[in-house]
Amino acid sequence: MYIVIEGQDGTGKSTQAELLKEYFIKQGKEVALMEEPDGDLPQAHDLHDLILSRGYHLESLTNVLLFTAARVELWKKIAEPVLKNGGIVISARNYWSTLAYQGYGEGVSRNKIIRLTKEMLPEKYFKPDYGFILTVPDQLREERQKIRGKAAETFEMKKQDFQSKVNAAYPKIAQDFNLKMVDASGSIEEVFKNIKDNLLVK
Ligand code: ADP
Ligand code: MG
Repeated sequence: MYIVIEGQDGTGKSTQAELLKEYFIKQGKEVALMEEPDGDLPQAHDLHDLILSRGYHLESLTNVLLFTAARVELWKKIAEPVLKNGGIVISARNYWSTLAYQGYGEGVSRNKIIRLTKEMLPEKYFKPDYGFILTVPDQLREERQKIRGKAAETFEMKKQDFQSKVNAAYPKIAQDFNLKMVDASGSIEEVFKNIKDNLLVK
């Protein structure tokens, strides 16, 4: 099984992904947690660093290429071995983030992002058994980001105009790619229950 949890920074993706991981481990399953774009993989982490932490202000297209490279590393090294073993892969983010941030947010052609990703990743990558997009109002997200206290610089810190474009992007992406929008403004337990209920439905 392959599950993707999408959404903006501070919506609770990592929190829910961890809970799902524990939930499946208790059932005796083999589980890989994939945090795009860096996860626990140093090479992916370094690629992410190039994009955000070195002050290079890279071209949007370069960001697309680097994010895609990080995806290839994570998919090949973390996801594929576990899927082959019949285990469960839970991914926080997917290339839909790149569509939202670099595509809708920074103006890179949506088709270009889709074509590049399709060239580089196998079909399964695009077809999670369950795909969720967590949504939380901006103010609450910002409070959660502050509490978490991470991230020197993220795309989320860009100006409001960018933020509004990314906000508008996720419902479109949900519709285009058949992902389930989940209201994640409730408690951690409430959101987790909602996600679990959705897993049972299918
Ligand atoms: P993301 O991975 O989407 O950026 P995180 O899972 O890191 O978000 O959550 C951001 C912060 O908000 C963390 O400090 C986390 O403990 C907290 N948090 C996550 N989900 C909730 C929730 N439903 N209610 C309150 N706080 C939450
Ligand atoms: Mg996270």
